[in-house]
Amino acid sequence: MNIFEQVESEVRSYCRSFPVVFNRAQGAELTTEEGRTYIDFLAGAGTLNYGHNHPELKEALIDYISSEGITHGLDMHSSAKARFLEAFHEWILKPRGMESFRVMFTGPTGTNAVEAAMKLARKVKGRSTIVSFTNGFHGCSGAALAATGNQHHRGAMGTSLNDVFRIPFDGYLGEGVDSTEYFEKLLSDPSSGLDHPAAVIVETVQGEGGLNAASAEWLRNLEAVCRRHDMLLIVDDIQAGCGRTGSFFSFEEMGIHPDMVTLSKSLSGYGLPFAILTYRDELDIWEPGEHNGTFRGNNLAFVTAAKAIELFWRDSEFADEVKQKAQHLRNGLERLIRRYGQNSLTLKGRGLMSGIECPDGEMAGEVIRDAFQNGLVIETSGAHDQVVKCLVPLTISTAQIDFGLGVLDKAFAKAAAKRERKAS
Ligand SMILES: *Cc1c(COP(=O)(O)O)cnc(C)c1O
Repeated sequence: MNIFEQVESEVRSYCRSFPVVFNRAQGAELTTEEGRTYIDFLAGAGTLNYGHNHPELKEALIDYISSEGITHGLDMHSSAKARFLEAFHEWILKPRGMESFRVMFTGPTGTNAVEAAMKLARKVKGRSTIVSFTNGFHGCSGAALAATGNQHHRGAMGTSLNDVFRIPFDGYLGEGVDSTEYFEKLLSDPSSGLDHPAAVIVETVQGEGGLNAASAEWLRNLEAVCRRHDMLLIVDDIQAGCGRTGSFFSFEEMGIHPDMVTLSKSLSGYGLPFAILTYRDELDIWEPGEHNGTFRGNNLAFVTAAKAIELFWRDSEFADEVKQKAQHLRNGLERLIRRYGQNSLTLKGRGLMSGIECPDGEMAGEVIRDAFQNGLVIETSGAHDQVVKCLVPLTISTAQIDFGLGVLDKAFAKAAAKRERKAS
């Protein structure tokens, strides 16, 4: 029995898919204690968009630490915080017509930003109900968990999860059914049983829910319902944001203008814990300290986040590269689908948040286990863990993508053959 099995809680999860001990990482590569190198198609579940230990981010961090920079300062002003706010305002908010948006530093994980968003929306509107979507994932703490669909996570709460009303996500009821029409109907019918919600929280691509990508049309219809019925639109961009879909925010090309946006995962650029909630300034009705927390704003993360924005988001070069790589990856996935399951496999997602849906979780599990044997770290997502999910670092090389596609090709060949044998 190793130290993990001996001491670490049964709650551990990702490590069970990858039973090795990693001790070094660079870019899209993870290396074990034994010296075996894997290509990383998981990227910290979307936390390592710029890869592991990006040299320039690392240098900025080391310089900051060596010069006795502030590591913890509650929410006091620090030069590192100023530089992050300047970079985020100048290079992210302003060019996107969001210069009036405020930045709220929440606790350092994604669920903290979601909690803050739901709390502020309820406070602004004076109503308790929040609408979320089937297969949505927003975190594992109280309010965020209430908005999360996953029964495995919800069941662990041990108490009631209140004040969230769930609507079918885009495509949930099959093609041709627009669930925003149903939502509109519920809101217009005083006997529908839906209390007037304060806000709607939505992912444009459901990461944990199985790479379900909402169409621009559905998102625009959803926004229109929010506007007609005086509800705030919250986009949870914790996983799909920070460039994953080919633009900094995942909604930029969807033609919607959310009132609030949550960001975390890749925001620090370096895998450091860091989350923010950003929202229209007229929503900023907090009293000083009304929402608090010891670790609001991680100064080390300010340093790498500011640097990452300066490095990658001052022009469109990086975003264009991400789009090209996404096309390359998706072409490769489509080839696999043509080869191993025209009728049974489906391409999912958007941008570099893409993958293949298998008929069931058993097949997807076989694929990722076989892929790991052959040097690829990759996970599944979805209600039945049926989607093989490629969350590559955005900085990955085409050769590394091709390596991963090659490994997946063999894994799908094996799993598809096994299915056929079983069926005959
Ligand atoms: C990961 C994730 C969260 C929760 O973030 P944690 O840091 O795990 O609390 C919330 N929303 C979305 C969309 C996520 O992908």
